[in-house]
Amino acid sequence: MRLRNIPRAESVLEAHDKVIKNEKELKGRWKEVFGNDNPVYIEIGMGKGQFLTEMAARHPDRNYIGIERYSSVLLRAVERLDKLEADSRALKNIRFICMDAAQIGEVFGKGEVRGIYLNFSDPWPKKRHARRRLTSRGFFARYDQVLAPEGRVEFKTDNQDLFRFSLEEADEAGWRVLMSTWDLHSDPDMNRGNVMTEYEEKFSAKGNPICKLIAGRQR
Ligand code: SAM
Repeated sequence: MRLRNIPRAESVLEAHDKVIKNEKELKGRWKEVFGNDNPVYIEIGMGKGQFLTEMAARHPDRNYIGIERYSSVLLRAVERLDKLEADSRALKNIRFICMDAAQIGEVFGKGEVRGIYLNFSDPWPKKRHARRRLTSRGFFARYDQVLAPEGRVEFKTDNQDLFRFSLEEADEAGWRVLMSTWDLHSDPDMNRGNVMTEYEEKFSAKGNPICKLIAGRQR
């Protein structure tokens, strides 16, 4: 997702208390940010934040951090959060970071993250760009650095080529695919408690089946 550049985005994000500006200084200290010991879950490429804000509302005993590369997109998530606050539904357990996910090893300590959500990640269809895919083996190696031993990566997409690639890469990276489906919305077990993302709503409305995998470490 890439929105038209919004000139005020940088200044709004800079001033917002839920947008973290010194993320690398917080490596190993995320408990201090939230003021509790609750587990930390991150969504990489969170877009406008529909999934993450709903997860944070459903699970007040967990902390959520949304990572998004583009300030113009993150601005929309911040506006969503502000709207919830205005409606007296403020969320205390959510923060945002504007950064490239390639740097997560510099932002989270070993085992500091309990779960990673990847929703409708950019497919980067050209083979020469495969390393940029968030489910490539290089990214699984980065997730390995920050994920707790019992942690999981959960990935949803409607792109079947990307899904096939992701199943293979998880295996190549030494991860175990614990559950997977090529049609999430027709799979009652895997679909239980599913929170829809913006892209999931858009693509399933077009009739595209949604694929999902849950992966953990081999050992
Ligand atoms: N997750 C949302 C959903 O399902 O509706 C948005 C999906 S959108 C196709 C993918 C998002 O991931 C875009 O907003 C893009 O800017 C972001 N993104 C892609 N690569 C990223 C990276 N390396 N680091 C951070 N964000 C990234």
